[in-house]
Amino acid sequence: EDAAKAAAATADSGASTIFDKIINKEIPSTIVYEDDKVLAFRDVNPQAPVHVLVIPKLRDGLTQLGKAEERHGNILGRLMYAAKIVAEKEGILDGFRVVINNGPGACQSVYHLHLHVLGGRQMKWPPG
Ligand code: ADP
Repeated sequence: EDAAKAAAATADSGASTIFDKIINKEIPSTIVYEDDKVLAFRDVNPQAPVHVLVIPKLRDGLTQLGKAEERHGNILGRLMYAAKIVAEKEGILDGFRVVINNGPGACQSVYHLHLHVLGGRQMKWPPG
């Protein structure tokens, strides 16, 4: 958790991230869903029995949700729909959570927009 906080202290620099290496298959990941625009893979540090990250293959300025522009509407919709497909595939449609951490104040550590899809246990509210 300290490492996550330290990494999260770094603000958006626009530099490419580890997710580009995952997209390019330069580093391994466990892919759950993939199409021409979207990749979904298991989080290496899962916070629930199911913890999948859903990302755009082309970052296109979307280092974080706070950088979204109207032109991103299509890909943002695709990401949300992919989250549903992941939940369905993982058998958690009856209870899952989709999270986007935006910026240092939300402990974002990787500056390539990603949706966390979490489930497989009772999710509590409010989140931390
Ligand atoms: P936080 O690190 O605080 O969760 P983010 O919302 O930016 O902030 O989430 C980045 C996520 O990416 C983390 O859950 C982390 O475990 C995950 N992650 C980092 N590197 C990899 C990797 N190589 N493969 C899969 N997941 C990764």
